[in-house]
Amino acid sequence: MNPWRGDFPILKRTVNGKPLIYFDNANTAQKPQAVIDAVDHFYCQHNANVARAVHLLSEEATAMYERARERIAAWIGAAAPREIVMTSGTTMAINLVAQSYLRPRLRENDEVLITAMEHHANIVPWQLLCAATGARLVVAPIFDDGTLDVQALVSLISPHTKLVGVTHVSNVLGTINPIAEIASATKARGVPLLVDGSQALPHFKVDVRALGCDFYCFTGHKLFAPTGTGVLWARYETLDAMSPWIGGGEMIDAVSFERTIYAPPPRRFEAGTPNIAGFIGLAAAIDYLAAQDCYALHTHEQALLQRLLEGLKGLGGVRLIGSAKDRVPVVSFTLEDAHATDVAMLLDLEGVAVRSGQHCAHPLMQRFGVNATLRASMAFYNTIDEVDQLLAALALVRAKLA
Ligand code: PLP
Repeated sequence: MNPWRGDFPILKRTVNGKPLIYFDNANTAQKPQAVIDAVDHFYCQHNANVARAVHLLSEEATAMYERARERIAAWIGAAAPREIVMTSGTTMAINLVAQSYLRPRLRENDEVLITAMEHHANIVPWQLLCAATGARLVVAPIFDDGTLDVQALVSLISPHTKLVGVTHVSNVLGTINPIAEIASATKARGVPLLVDGSQALPHFKVDVRALGCDFYCFTGHKLFAPTGTGVLWARYETLDAMSPWIGGGEMIDAVSFERTIYAPPPRRFEAGTPNIAGFIGLAAAIDYLAAQDCYALHTHEQALLQRLLEGLKGLGGVRLIGSAKDRVPVVSFTLEDAHATDVAMLLDLEGVAVRSGQHCAHPLMQRFGVNATLRASMAFYNTIDEVDQLLAALALVRAKLA
């Protein structure tokens, strides 16, 4: 019996008359009752805006919101809560680094170095900057097995490189990149390293300072928390040397028509009313994860992964995209003579939710010469039985499409 499953109420529902099998966790994860309750409790008992009013509800809401920041900081090993900038997600966190940190430092002929396995969120913000400044985007290659060519990445760091951006885990291949090794190379060359941790934190614990990177970004909704929540971590000195990007209420100390004095970080980067309930939910998700046996979670996820990989190989006509040894349970594949979207629609009729398409990683699709893939991405609440049902459903779909 899976010990976590009962904590996620949505897993009890049916889809098209069949029990839901949710294998789209890399897209967004389901929420445990503890997160739903935390959000509900906030709206029923404490709802008010933060850091503005002196009344009790506002004080409570502010304390809960700031406790969420403390919880996040402790969970990822930040030196202090003030190193945590709350954003709407990874996308906003990366754009913030692009606009606040890099834009004032980027000149014509400078370079931003990324990898061939990045999500669009770690490509397009740099392209926008390059277009505005005359800098260049440089891309480190990956091997056919979906692992990063770390040597090539390091050799591409030049005196022109002003930032290196690497995903911790690929949302398509499941590959875990050796961030500590990359960080020691970027550090030795004095180049800042940004890590996109969106797909890492849902599967293993991360210590940002031990990794040695300069910026770490992640998104809450893949971490069993509400949508519209995300984090940018950087050392306080780094944040303090950055100018604001989005202006408005909350991010100032004083405003006159002649001159505005900005608040210190992290408030400097949090203009406007934040997703208060969402971050309270994120703190609850972290509390939930902290209470679990992380070894048991990891072992179970790896068992799911191995079962799916073996089953897919046994199915015939399957092309696996990526076969890294170090990986999370995210599996992309194609079925011979079948379009991924047709397969995903037929799987949905069997109650199985997978993602099909290009996974916000068009360049990676081009690298593997595919238009689209199917992606089954698993979480600890999935079961071996569900993996077997997916395999059976795939065999059925193949027979239907033949
Ligand atoms: N980076 C990676 C690796 C992702 O998988 C995703 C989401 O799919 C993102 C960034 C963007 O996250 P968000 O849409 O929550 O900002």
